[in-house]
Amino acid sequence: MQKILDEIAANALKATDLGKVADYIPELAKVDPKQFAISIATADGGLFSAGDCDTPFSIQSISKVFVLALALGKVGDALWKRVGREPSGLSFDSVLLLERENGVPRNPFINAGALVTTDTFLNCSTPREALGALLRFVRAASDRDDIHIDESVAHSELDTAHRNFALAHYLASHRNLTNTPEHVLGTYCHQCAIEMTTVQLALAGRILLDAEGLPSLLSHQRKRRINALMMTCGHYDGSGDFAFEVGLPGKSGVGGGILVIAPGRASIAVWSPGLNAYGNSKRGTEAMAELARKTGWSVFG
Ligand code: GLN
Repeated sequence: MQKILDEIAANALKATDLGKVADYIPELAKVDPKQFAISIATADGGLFSAGDCDTPFSIQSISKVFVLALALGKVGDALWKRVGREPSGLSFDSVLLLERENGVPRNPFINAGALVTTDTFLNCSTPREALGALLRFVRAASDRDDIHIDESVAHSELDTAHRNFALAHYLASHRNLTNTPEHVLGTYCHQCAIEMTTVQLALAGRILLDAEGLPSLLSHQRKRRINALMMTCGHYDGSGDFAFEVGLPGKSGVGGGILVIAPGRASIAVWSPGLNAYGNSKRGTEAMAELARKTGWSVFG
């Protein structure tokens, strides 16, 4: 495994096209695109890494997986009255379908759907309480205490979150938001600004693995369902391509991270800040395709 990761990191460093770092969140535009890291936490307790695996990065939309798990823990299947489970075929911040489909977002991983899950998780608590519970959950999942929120990234996003505010107000106009758009957006921008290393993220992802002896924070059925949503919706309008090239469920973030699950085998985190046209990590996607080829891991046999 270590040899495979070293090869993947070496190949990533040879790439000439690094993709484009997200710049609509000003703080993210400052990140050095040359960085690359990959970590694998295996179901039998192994931990392997290569590259900048101790450098924390902004997990952004990968946080939507953890908040979805917590929202389902709060309200169970009632969540599906407020958000769908279909791929959108559109970019992560699109407003198009929300109007056509009467304020019920297509899935919990596009921004509109994630605002509904954040709203559900927030419930009647304050943003501070909800964020505290989220951090406790992620720290317990990874068994690492040094996981924090980067306030400068959170505020940088909040100051420029015009589209996400538009989505939140649209949801509110359809009575699909119970907290104020300000509270939901404040919580959402802070959850996205959680910083983790690939080591921490790979360890946290083990909650989605079914394997003996791992921390069991989610039921078997919930893991399967979250993995199914990651497979079909985790890369937005690039989800089909990712399934085709990699064949494993994954969730990307505009910070350049991707969390991938090889069910029963391993949780994998890869990070490279430059993005492809879909807003998913370019070298991260390529690295995952290489890993899938070299290990033979795929949910399709
Ligand atoms: N915080 C980002 C946003 O809402 C998350 C998007 C992403 O990572 N794809 O725009």
